[in-house]
Amino acid sequence: MRVVITLECTSCGARNYISNKNKKNSPDRIEKKKYCPVERKVTLHREVK
Ligand SMILES: [Zn+2]
Repeated sequence: MRVVITLECTSCGARNYISNKNKKNSPDRIEKKKYCPVERKVTLHREVK
């Protein structure tokens, strides 16, 4: 049930991380606080299709 997802910075739109999730446990788009190397600070990253 695990699928690969891309995490995009909600602040600048850079796609900084590849991750994976369990589709059964989190069917909705997930959001994570991550370090953005473009802005050099921690921002909210959201799953993109
Ligand atoms: Zn950013």
